Amino acid sequence: MEKEVVIIGGSDLGISTALRIRELNKNIKPLVITNNNFPNFSICGIPFYISGEVKCWQNLAHRKEDDIRNKGIELLLNTEVTNINHQEKYILIKEKDKKDNRKKIFYNKLVLGTGGKNIIPKIEGLGLPGVFFMRWMEDAINFNRYLESNKVKDALIIGGGYVGLEMAEALVKRGLNVTIVEFFDNVLTTVNRNFRDMVKNELEKNGVKVITSTAVKKIEKEGDKLIVTGNNSLKEKVDTIAASVGTEANTKLGKDIGLKRGIKGAYKVNRKMQTSIEDIYAGGDCAETLNNITDKYTYYALGTVAHKHGRIIGDNICGLDKEFAGVIGTQSIKLFDLVIARTGLSEEEAVKNGFNVKTKLLESWDHKVYYPPVYKMYTEVIIDSDSRRILGAQIMGNKNAEIAKRIDIFAAAIFNKMKTNDFNQLDLSYTPPLSSPWDPVQMAVQEIEK
Ligand SMILES: Cc1cc2nc3c(=O)[nH]c(=O)nc-3n(C[C@H](O)[C@H](O)[C@H](O)COP(=O)(O)OP(=O)(O)OC[C@H]3O[C@@H](n4cnc5c(N)ncnc54)[C@H](O)[C@@H]3O)c2cc1C
Repeated sequence: MEKEVVIIGGSDLGISTALRIRELNKNIKPLVITNNNFPNFSICGIPFYISGEVKCWQNLAHRKEDDIRNKGIELLLNTEVTNINHQEKYILIKEKDKKDNRKKIFYNKLVLGTGGKNIIPKIEGLGLPGVFFMRWMEDAINFNRYLESNKVKDALIIGGGYVGLEMAEALVKRGLNVTIVEFFDNVLTTVNRNFRDMVKNELEKNGVKVITSTAVKKIEKEGDKLIVTGNNSLKEKVDTIAASVGTEANTKLGKDIGLKRGIKGAYKVNRKMQTSIEDIYAGGDCAETLNNITDKYTYYALGTVAHKHGRIIGDNICGLDKEFAGVIGTQSIKLFDLVIARTGLSEEEAVKNGFNVKTKLLESWDHKVYYPPVYKMYTEVIIDSDSRRILGAQIMGNKNAEIAKRIDIFAAAIFNKMKTNDFNQLDLSYTPPLSSPWDPVQMAVQEIEK
């Protein structure tokens, strides 16, 4: 078999690449190969399926299989790509439910969208029944089945990052007693120190037990229960465990042919998203990504990044000669009644990158106080005090306080290298139930100018 474009991986990167190619060139029918039966599923939605807010897992599909095929994209499901031969330009595939059926598919352009994989911590007993990792649709379906068919009352989450916290809320919503065990001295260490305590308080207010500065070492089965032990005399007896301690790049295929790799094993790519071997592109969780502020490569395992990479790869395969402008690490998370969001560099990252950093944290109301209910919000701004360029911002507040959209104002400004004076001249909207004549984001920047 011979194909113009072969894409390995049918998630955010693979499908966004294929869709862009179809938008630009109807003569190319990209072939997307994925080693599971869940093409184009929103794994970002897994916590909301586990919580019961999304009623069935099928609803997590961004598009149904037929919709993808109807767009002119070929799909090979449940099929593992086992090897790449870049000299002769073919891949070897193995359909998972068939024996000894390695087939060759020749390509003109190859796209690697093999994504990420869980970092597996060194903990004894991770393979025991009742212990789950949260990454794939199969994980979510199996975990949900386990919760439904066992008398599960107590759950423990290993890892207090974004996914761990979303899972904590999900399990509380399901009526479980939840404990989080985090190795670092606080949860959500990707946000600034002031916010971390408020996040921890929000968890505790909602009944989550938070244990920090503690490493889980061992999980053992005792009757129906799982016993979790670790340092600092950790000993918890629970019915189930969900582990989520981070993502690294899944790059075995490229490693075998000597593709250059960097941070967390991710493929090194140039601004056109080309790897170190001709006619092979890579993006999403399996590739490094450019930071627009520092102009250095970094690793962000984010769906937003994978979609952008996919679009650029599609553009370049179709001859548009586009360069990726880089990302600035914009992220948000909803946790019970709180939303926490960040964009650009944190104070620590800005210092590390040699900027002369100035930071200010503003506490404000989200809109005019005379129109209830009003919510407190906290806005931290990070600037380069020499040039007055805004380098980063973090905002935290009630989920009704438009935190995510407010961080996006900063994201647009930072992406466009705006300075404090220009930011304060932005013509933002105002009506008393939603904001103030100066929006809190501008008030925060005015504070730092004082
Ligand atoms: C629980 C959870 C919540 C998240 N929430 C958010 C969020 O709120 N916002 C956000 O921006 N991001 C979020 N993310 C991250 C986001 O989901 C990922 O960044 C995104 O899925 C990456 O897309 P990708 O296509 O690069 O890789 P992946 O989604 O990892 O997909 C890789 C694909 O490659 C296939 N594959 C791998 N190896 C082979 C092979 N050898 N042969 C064939 N197929 C292969 C896999 O089957 C899969 O289809 C979340 C992730 C998780 C797990």
